[in-house]
Amino acid sequence: MKVLTKKADLRAYRRSLSAEVVGFVPTMGALHEGHMSLVRAAKQSCDRVIASIFVNPTQFDRDADLQSYPSDLEADQAKLVAEGCDALFTIAKDSMYEADFSTWVVPEGSLVAGLCGRTRGSHFRGVCTVVTKLLSLVQPDRAFFGQKDFQQLAIIQRMVRDLDLPVDIVSCPIVREADGLALSSRNQLLTAENRAAAVTISQLLARARDMFAKGERQPQVIKSMVREQLEVSARAIDYIEIVDRQSLVPCERLCEDSVMALAAFYGDVRLIDNHRLGDAFPSAL
Ligand code: AMP
Repeated sequence: MKVLTKKADLRAYRRSLSAEVVGFVPTMGALHEGHMSLVRAAKQSCDRVIASIFVNPTQFDRDADLQSYPSDLEADQAKLVAEGCDALFTIAKDSMYEADFSTWVVPEGSLVAGLCGRTRGSHFRGVCTVVTKLLSLVQPDRAFFGQKDFQQLAIIQRMVRDLDLPVDIVSCPIVREADGLALSSRNQLLTAENRAAAVTISQLLARARDMFAKGERQPQVIKSMVREQLEVSARAIDYIEIVDRQSLVPCERLCEDSVMALAAFYGDVRLIDNHRLGDAFPSAL
């Protein structure tokens, strides 16, 4: 696997692949099976796969979160090699952003009004800007994103459409632990006690899906049930919402395409998860 740490080296590598279908998997590292599922999906449909690891400072709204974000480049590289990834782009913060950097990609409207967009300030401005920069550098045919970050995925799909970026965005399912907790790099920051408590999140999503499958169509009924239970398990709740999958506007009445999404703090660790109510929850849980 080629490890590229400079923009010029990445561009030169990309030029050498002119006739091949290139897949791209952007990450912030501390790689887990969720990330690897994206690499596998890219391997399946592309001739070459480029992954990136860059802990993007402009998308963090809390400095403590940025400072504590886990990283293990050596282990990450070994995982990518084992999966047959062709190249890794990983670059220092100062080389990614010039000192006088001043051009941002700022999403607006209903996609950013709620959920993480409401409480995380300029988070999606940071995400859209870094993803645009990465797409411009890598110039992939396809880029792979996880449904775990469901709002991010919707915003990036819209951005690519709105700005006519020449790339197909591929949406990949959430990978979960055996007990249901969605894999996340931040999970390793949980204490044992909080890790055990955090299983409530996926249990509540499964229960919400159950209520929907049995005919419940009032968002408020399901949201109240989830809030009541989550208040017991989490230190603090950021949001509990049920939104339309495309517009991310809160649902007045539930349908198959309604997505239950939530964010909650376990200790200082903020966890997010979501589930489309029309889909069965993984049966093992
Ligand atoms: P991150 O490193 O957290 O920025 O995530 C990089 C990519 O991996 C994003 O597209 C995420 O949505 C995706 N991802 C993270 N966790 C999971 C998961 N549990 N299942 C599927 N994809 C995931």
